[in-house]
Amino acid sequence: MNKDFLMKPVQSVKTVGPRRAATLQRIGIFTVKDLLYHFPRRYEDRTRLSPAGACAHGETATVRGKVLAAQDLKPRRGLTITKLAVHDGFGIFYAVWFNQPFIKKSLAPGKMIYVTGKVDKSFGAIQVTVEDYDLDDGSDSLSAGRLVPVYPLTEQLNQRQLRVMVKTALEGLNNQALEFLPEEITKKYNLPRLAKALSQAHFPDHEKEAGAARKRFIFEELFLFQLVLAVRKRDISGSEKAHRYQPEGDLLRLYKENLPFQLTRGQLKAWEEISRDLDSPRPMHRLLQGDVGAGKTVVSAMTMIRAVESGLQGVLMAPTEILAEQHYLGMKRDLAAIGVEMGLLTGGARKKERERLLERLADGELKLLVGTHALIQEDVNFQKLGLVIVDEQHRFGVRQRATLGRKGDLPDTLVMTATPIPRTLALTLYGDLDISIIGELPPGRTPVRTYAALPGALHKALSLIRQQVNQGRQAYIVCPLVEESEKVDLKASVDLAADLASSEFKDFKVGLLHGRMKSDEKEEIMSLFREGEIKVLVSTTVIEVGVDIPNATVMLIMDAERFGLAQLHQLRGRVGRGGYQSYCVLIANPKTDEGRARLKAMTQTSDGFALAEEDLRLRGPGEFHGTRQSGLPEFKIADLLRDWKALEAAREEAQAFVQKDPYFKSAESRALLEEMHARFGSGNYIEA
Ligand code: ADP
Ligand code: MG
Repeated sequence: MNKDFLMKPVQSVKTVGPRRAATLQRIGIFTVKDLLYHFPRRYEDRTRLSPAGACAHGETATVRGKVLAAQDLKPRRGLTITKLAVHDGFGIFYAVWFNQPFIKKSLAPGKMIYVTGKVDKSFGAIQVTVEDYDLDDGSDSLSAGRLVPVYPLTEQLNQRQLRVMVKTALEGLNNQALEFLPEEITKKYNLPRLAKALSQAHFPDHEKEAGAARKRFIFEELFLFQLVLAVRKRDISGSEKAHRYQPEGDLLRLYKENLPFQLTRGQLKAWEEISRDLDSPRPMHRLLQGDVGAGKTVVSAMTMIRAVESGLQGVLMAPTEILAEQHYLGMKRDLAAIGVEMGLLTGGARKKERERLLERLADGELKLLVGTHALIQEDVNFQKLGLVIVDEQHRFGVRQRATLGRKGDLPDTLVMTATPIPRTLALTLYGDLDISIIGELPPGRTPVRTYAALPGALHKALSLIRQQVNQGRQAYIVCPLVEESEKVDLKASVDLAADLASSEFKDFKVGLLHGRMKSDEKEEIMSLFREGEIKVLVSTTVIEVGVDIPNATVMLIMDAERFGLAQLHQLRGRVGRGGYQSYCVLIANPKTDEGRARLKAMTQTSDGFALAEEDLRLRGPGEFHGTRQSGLPEFKIADLLRDWKALEAAREEAQAFVQKDPYFKSAESRALLEEMHARFGSGNYIEA
């Protein structure tokens, strides 16, 4: 068994001495296995050897021949040209190196060599400017007559050296490596076994073998990661919740009857899935995903009502005060209509009120609570918390979700996100959650017309607002708020509001909303806007998520190039919520291609999922969530966008595997478990 060899320090490879080992460490290569998992970036096809005379001028080719003579030229100080005359069986060509005088020693006349480089035929003679060379000693060459691996490098390490080290490591492995992937899986997906894949990944016999090896390592990486998530899920769902739900009762029936619309198919399906979770003895861990305005709030309210009907408490956590307040206001009204009370807890709550609220919560008199992070404070205690709903999950750390959950005894958890995460990413980020998707918007929505314009066109946008307000509608104007320069930007929006109020819009009421305002001030402004008193609301991005005012039809975004696509889409989602034609105007002066691409994407599609994919493509997954701590692991070889099919397969297989053998008891799953721990730790890179 050569498993041990793989785990040995990289110095166990014959061609790796202490100095090389130190160099390798700098690129994270410590063991033989690390070295063999340092995959080529690409391959160069040097399978075809042709005489130099048959090569085209300018072509990069590999030529084999016998060294006839060598010469050093020194045309000026600091430049040495080494020129070898080589006979390739048909004629003579010159192989040329710059500033590598030692070449002459190793490639002495009489030796057979391969050289790879650009062919120059401009001065009658044929010359090859050498990029890579190798001795032909009769054995297989590592750099000619084959697909040649090209590696990511570091200083003091070149392709030739790496190739030799990898080759020696493969020889040491001697075609034996402990396979940890279940045979069933390698068979099903036609993946080469580990030893073969390793050798073919580095020195493939053929493109096809290289591809197969690559496919294996991509699958392997995703599968191991999905296994970690499946194990987490096992731990979650292997447990039984302390509470049970009553069947749907009168309260819920009444609530549904009161709704002024029919639930969409997506909503019904999500509700069905949620109900099944609630009825199950296992705690729910579900992600409810849907584009802005898809109607997640209604579904979450229904979930809360079922908790109340079952004598349980429910809590909803939102990322901002405005959102928490909006949920509170929106739901309070509808809930009051069926006789259910709901409380609000934010950071801005007054001490007395807060105490009273917490008391009523602790003794179970108050059943439902909405709030911000303030909810996870230590003194917030429930009598019997059965349901936790988290809105706009990506704003919270996974830890906060868990902290809230610990206030109950394995409560059911529903995570709502309006950020349309591409399915690939959702599977990765939330692999431990089940996913419900509300895929369509409620009927009767008119798509928002989106325009991107240079700052010079601002007056046009303002007249659009004026025209809309004259028709009874309302508008948002959003100014970006960047953390470092919060004060400056704040001033910008304050100034803008003041300006507009005294000039363009002096005949309407203009309101200002920003994060620094006290919560009752904010609430005051929001309710004036909601009631239609304030016609134009100038705000920083606090308005971003979830705010729901159907009469607003214009979203004007200043300095739009400073927002990410996901954020722009969120903002745009604030309009087009009623039956009126709505507009989104992006005022921007983008300086980069990426910035222009973002704006273009916004004007071309209103499909949040398409935009999310585009965002991911433009910025990479780390950026997508605005933070590197999104819980996304860094994959070495897999690419979430490109390999989404493999990701889905890996997820299915991982779940099936853990279902079949939850504690890795079978003989063949031992190695798999070890590999999983070795690769991803015990899973603590995702906060528990
Ligand atoms: P989300 O939270 O998914 O962004 P909301 O739940 O806030 O969306 O719903 C957006 C708007 O659509 C609200 O005004 C809501 O009353 C309305 N709405 C929700 N479901 C429906 C439906 N099935 N038909 C018509 N309107 C709906
Ligand atoms: Mg919402």
